Amino acid sequence: MSEEKQTKPGGKRTGSGKGNRTTPKQAEKPKAAAKNKTESASAAPAQHKGQRGRGKRGAVTAAPPQAQESMISLVSNPLAQTAPQRPASSSNTGASKEFKLKIIPLGGLGEVGKNMTILQYGEQMLVIDAGIMFPEDDLYGIDMVIPDYSYLVENSQKVLAFILTHGHEDHIGAMPYVLRDVDVPVYSAALTLGLLKGKLNEHKQPAKLIPVKPRQEISVGPFRVEFIHVTHSIPDSFALAIHTPVGVIFFASDFKIDLSPIDGQMMDFGRLSALGERGVLLMLADSTNVEKAGFTPSEKTVGSTFDNIFLNAPGRIVITSFASNVHRIQQAIWAAKRAGRKVAIVGRGMQNIAVVAKELGYLDLPKDLLIDIDKINSLPSNKLLILTTGSQGEPLSGLTRMASGEHRQVHILPGDTVVISAAPIPGNERVVGRTIDNLFRQGATVIHEKGDGIHVSGHASREELKLLHNIIKPQFFMPVHGEYRMLVKHAKLAQQLGMAEANTFVLENGQVLEVDRQRCRVNGRVPSGRVLIDGLGVGDVGNTVLKERRILSESGILLVHMIYTCKGGTQILAGPEIFSRGFIFEKEYEHIIDEIKEKVIALCTMEKLTSFNNYDLSNQVRSTLARFLLERTGRRPVILPIISEV
Ligand SMILES: [Zn+2]
Ligand SMILES: [Zn+2]
Repeated sequence: MSEEKQTKPGGKRTGSGKGNRTTPKQAEKPKAAAKNKTESASAAPAQHKGQRGRGKRGAVTAAPPQAQESMISLVSNPLAQTAPQRPASSSNTGASKEFKLKIIPLGGLGEVGKNMTILQYGEQMLVIDAGIMFPEDDLYGIDMVIPDYSYLVENSQKVLAFILTHGHEDHIGAMPYVLRDVDVPVYSAALTLGLLKGKLNEHKQPAKLIPVKPRQEISVGPFRVEFIHVTHSIPDSFALAIHTPVGVIFFASDFKIDLSPIDGQMMDFGRLSALGERGVLLMLADSTNVEKAGFTPSEKTVGSTFDNIFLNAPGRIVITSFASNVHRIQQAIWAAKRAGRKVAIVGRGMQNIAVVAKELGYLDLPKDLLIDIDKINSLPSNKLLILTTGSQGEPLSGLTRMASGEHRQVHILPGDTVVISAAPIPGNERVVGRTIDNLFRQGATVIHEKGDGIHVSGHASREELKLLHNIIKPQFFMPVHGEYRMLVKHAKLAQQLGMAEANTFVLENGQVLEVDRQRCRVNGRVPSGRVLIDGLGVGDVGNTVLKERRILSESGILLVHMIYTCKGGTQILAGPEIFSRGFIFEKEYEHIIDEIKEKVIALCTMEKLTSFNNYDLSNQVRSTLARFLLERTGRRPVILPIISEV
């Protein structure tokens, strides 16, 4: 599928009030490209070793920390101009040739989660984010879903680096798997890398992690990547300005415009405006909340709600949230401090993040405020806050186990107040509802409703998205991160702001968007899809296994065990024994079990048997029993004959 779209001569955005805005091609691009070309001859040697001896990659040059402050200016920084060393093996990346830039989304389009995007210029690639998605109900027993990244594996020699925008699971969760196959440096903020490090340790997966700061730039092959601070529900979130030979690509991953951020770190409007003024060729931006009107309220509004709850709660308070929502955890901790309550952090996920965030200075958590979970009973109930996970009704989480009375240390008591400080991810509403019911049964007051002010989204609503479009004023736009309808609505939003429809591109995972200085078009497709993770297995559970799991879950299994011999006439040596799971309650269906046995014996002692081989007999047993059981019970269990001849 290929639909070429051209920039119309008047394709400049109207309605921005900037009739004389220079287009990207008139502005810095040609210069930047020329710079890259001329300097590739005197390229610096590759700095990073440990690339598993798979040949040379493009040089990856990061600025030393002391140079970070001086890197704020794009042009004055000499390091930022260090040109890439091209792979010696690829002759078609000659300095004179200009390529089209390819944007290849491997995940995050037509879905919420497993975000992953490739930028490819010639033979060199940059990967932005590698996240997971939580499985839907029809994925029996699957722990998580990651993007099919076989295109990266096929081209692993061309991959220069991973860039992570922020530390949420849907952006970093797949990294331990992807790094097994594509081992290149990973650039991101300290908190993101801290969270990633925890995951990599669990997987015993080594990696080269390189921290970067807001406004820092790195040169990776033909790409110059600039990290720009944005506000979101986790600290240290970045938007990326990627300066490429064809122009500037602005990648707004998850963000909201929070004008009173918890950590005081404002969104970097200065850099965003400067980029917009100089010209952005293509913008990619989060579409999660495009269906929400207005502005997303500031995270700070949740803090005053917490204060009110703390003022009025007669007994213990339990607050549950995403472990990664460091700002929310911070606000709960501050509210506890103001109310004179101690804080117990329950559950490994929440504890891990608290430790990492505190160590790196992202969480203000005084030691004397903490109390060990084993000691909570020594405190009066109105002096305690329990922080835990389980806002999505996850079966093994702290809150779910407290709700069902199965938690070892925390028993919900009448008078407890439970605050569910997160919105259920679509699809989780039912299990979350069940958890809430259970909490009410235990006598708790549960604060969970939308209007209660206990949660705000971390994603930009429509007015914020409009603001971003107006600041960045891109030539072309490709919505990312959202269900298909959200992507379409985001493209429409851009059109309402004056962008030509032909300049907006709604893609699906695996489709390739090709950009040069003037044009942008969808051209071609690479393999994409999902890889299912079940326990230690990566991608080994396919459709067949899922189908079997579905049948097992619907009708159960019946197992027939028997040993026979044909020597000197057919003789049954053991069995038939019948076992079932999830099919019928055997004690109440003894008559059926007896009939099953009779059928099996009859088949085995048929005259024809000597001419059967064992495989035929098993098949006969399977089909005969399937027919019989459907007739007698109306069910279709999986029938598993274990019949051997000696
Ligand atoms: Zn996200
Ligand atoms: Zn996020």
